[in-house]
Amino acid sequence: MDNLPKCPANYTTLTPLTFLMRASASYANRPSVIHEATQFTWSQTYDRCRRLASSLRALNISKNDVVSVLAPNIPAMYEMHFAVPMAGAVLNTINIRLDPKNIATILRHSEAKIFFVDYEFVPKAKEALRLLMEEKNQTEQYSSLPLVIVIDDINSPTGIRLGELEYEQMVRHGNPNYIPEEIQDEWSPIALNYTSGTTSEPKGVVYSHRGAYLSTLSLILGWEMGSEPVYLWTLPMFHCNGWTFTWGIAARGGTNICIRNTAASDIYRAINLYNVTHMCCAPIIFNIILGAKASEKREIKTPVNILTGGAPPPASLLEEIESIGFHVTHAYGLTEATGPALVCEWQKQWNVLPKREQSMLKARQGVSVLTLADVDVKNLKTMESVVRDGETMGEIVLKGSGIMMGYFKDNEATAKAFGDGWFRTGDVGVIHKDGYLEIKDRSKDVIISGGENISSVEVENVLYMHPKILEAAVVAMPHPKWGESPCAFVSLKKNDAKKSDFFTVTEDEIIGHCRKNLPHFMVPKKVVFMEELPKNGNNKIQKFELRVKAKSFVEN
Ligand code: ADP
Repeated sequence: MDNLPKCPANYTTLTPLTFLMRASASYANRPSVIHEATQFTWSQTYDRCRRLASSLRALNISKNDVVSVLAPNIPAMYEMHFAVPMAGAVLNTINIRLDPKNIATILRHSEAKIFFVDYEFVPKAKEALRLLMEEKNQTEQYSSLPLVIVIDDINSPTGIRLGELEYEQMVRHGNPNYIPEEIQDEWSPIALNYTSGTTSEPKGVVYSHRGAYLSTLSLILGWEMGSEPVYLWTLPMFHCNGWTFTWGIAARGGTNICIRNTAASDIYRAINLYNVTHMCCAPIIFNIILGAKASEKREIKTPVNILTGGAPPPASLLEEIESIGFHVTHAYGLTEATGPALVCEWQKQWNVLPKREQSMLKARQGVSVLTLADVDVKNLKTMESVVRDGETMGEIVLKGSGIMMGYFKDNEATAKAFGDGWFRTGDVGVIHKDGYLEIKDRSKDVIISGGENISSVEVENVLYMHPKILEAAVVAMPHPKWGESPCAFVSLKKNDAKKSDFFTVTEDEIIGHCRKNLPHFMVPKKVVFMEELPKNGNNKIQKFELRVKAKSFVEN
């Protein structure tokens, strides 16, 4: 074919900002964001975002400048997902659980021009800024500190004022007629998210407008999120921009329900009060929901759809949470994949299976989401795809539009991550005959005992089947004969009958339970009881800390 039409002059770039513009035009009076007494409609949200964007421009924020924010799931945090890119800038949300040193590292590395801080986190931010100032005085490298703007959220505990400017003031004084910065290149950056550094130094992951747009569409479709969802923010918005649902709820004309804390009482109350239909969370939140006191629990009248991921959900936990009225979809992803990259799509023929079998199928990580062009499990020595037998392990590799542009200021790490064009996840998995992928471990967590690979996840799943175990993590412990052997760390559930007491169980009992359910070589040689397992800022169990402990047991 010759003389084909060229790309039209009115070609619009792919950007999630269009979701808000459309929501404001199509669902003007629908509630957009609710946080206790604060409530906005989609036209109000659009108006507020335009005003805030214009105020950012007035502060000389321009194209590709980084705007950082340290805040929980509050309306301001939601609005910044649109307002910051509307000013042409890049949003950098910082994990509120990080310590001041890590926050300072991110502010320095990202070269943040503006730093929004919620009142509750002012002491942390102050200390981070003090560290930066100290550094600035010692080295010539750091040019200027970010301008601080405090967020006086109506529900935040009042605290020490930091800086001269305040969020609401910026919205109030902003220009309501501001025309959002035109995104001329859909590959321009929209967000900068730092990995939590579970296995290495935190790296700055850059998302493009295009990647964010496509990932958002892919997830609302993949999760079959219908129109007008009532979405409860239990997943931090600072985690991969809330797995893109910050932009996705605008696309579906839904309502964002914000809560400051994810205590069981807040979750049950919000579900009941607002008739929540959807929420996302790591499996650890299931423990919070299930462990609620009787006085905090409320009946889940209509099923709440939960998208879970971030860590492997044990089949037994999936079964428990579904038994009280939640409907779980399981996804797997990572910061570099803009959140979920795989989703365990449900097959109708599984409906007739016994509950436990259904949960075991659901605990698998699944198939690629729409924006992922391809997913594979490869033997990294030969780079050949592994046999789809559910047993042969290899590294999970990904390709597609949802994958990051690269790491900020780190070409070497970017090149290493993409190797031969595939993004290497560092996760070890298998592919089953039906094409569903299952994670066995992170490559650094695999235990090699007498030449056999032991998946710590498989052993943990068996531990979670024990009715008294709340949390479990299995790591390698040096072994004189086998090289390594599995060592289990567990915390126990509370014994409701005895109010505050924990259940008691012996090491032998747990080892006996594992013997019944696992091949002999996979059974932990030692079980360590802890009140709570150590976690990082993303609530993930810190296995490297446990590995250090496990090592010391043998040496002592
Ligand atoms: P970090 O890599 O710093 O922990 P991420 O939040 O990006 O931060 O975590 C991604 C990792 O979390 C994945 O590489 C994988 O190991 C783990 N993960 C995510 N979802 C799942 C899941 N559904 N099942 C098992 N592991 C998961």
